[in-house]
Amino acid sequence: MSFLFSIFGNPVSHSKSPLMHNLAFKGLNYDACYARYKLQDGDKLKETFFSLGLKGINITVPHKEYAFKACDVLDPFAKKVGAVNTIVEKDGKLHGYNTDAPGFLKAISEFKDIKTVLFLGAGGTAQSTSTILRDEGYEVTLLNRSQERLNKFKQNGFKTYTFDTFKIEKYDLVINMTSAGLEDDSLPAPKEILNKVIETSKACVDVIYGKETAFLKLAKAHNKPIKDGSDMLLYQGIIAFEYFTDHKFTFDKIKTYMEKAFYL
Ligand code: NDP
Repeated sequence: MSFLFSIFGNPVSHSKSPLMHNLAFKGLNYDACYARYKLQDGDKLKETFFSLGLKGINITVPHKEYAFKACDVLDPFAKKVGAVNTIVEKDGKLHGYNTDAPGFLKAISEFKDIKTVLFLGAGGTAQSTSTILRDEGYEVTLLNRSQERLNKFKQNGFKTYTFDTFKIEKYDLVINMTSAGLEDDSLPAPKEILNKVIETSKACVDVIYGKETAFLKLAKAHNKPIKDGSDMLLYQGIIAFEYFTDHKFTFDKIKTYMEKAFYL
């Protein structure tokens, strides 16, 4: 029996997920195909899923909260963070997972002796990743350009600052969680602040992938180890693929094929 999978989002034309998953299906001889679907209205997620006869989907911006609401069964971590990026249909029920956060955790695991982490930005991606990092024993502080998005983090016990209130401390890892630098060369925070936190850090990471952002260029100028968001994207995809195929293949085996999407 052949299965159909898809990415749901708006926009979705740029997404690497179809290529990543199709390369892995082909390489592993798994009878399935992965498409892309531009979903305009998040409320229609469930009916669209069933009308297209899908077995599973990934969900990207701006529908991760709608996806959370559409699920019949939630994985405990997805439930905790309120965001779902992977859904699998089992016996007519939608099972929801969050693979962004474990993918991110694995991506930064190459940096050793990290205890304190500074997040630049407080959006949707910061939400799930800050939670998994804290669960794993890291101390996460958030610095955001405006206050509103920080409120939720503050209520959840995180240390939060805006640029105006920031008290500079030493952080082992500094991570750009904003979209600053995605389509331009802007920095995620004022340069004076960045110079200070980068200088005392052990490494710097950006969740934006496929380019060296202004933030990573600055970190490089400080001679710090840097990493972009490609591994995060790859690892969230591999973990989603494990759910799609009911854990028939090992992480490393899936990686062999899926990572080819980054060299094509
Ligand atoms: P959101 O829209 O939820 O949040 C955006 C955040 O960026 C907010 O904190 C916002 O601050 C801040 N921001 C935006 N522009 C600027 C700017 N010019 N200067 C300073 N701060 C800015 O975004 P997401 O959390 O969904 O995505 C964040 C980034 O993560 C994106 O670049 C996305 O591409 C990337 N991403 C990467 C993934 C991967 O697999 N590698 C997976 C998912 C996302 P404010 O609150 O003040 O508006």
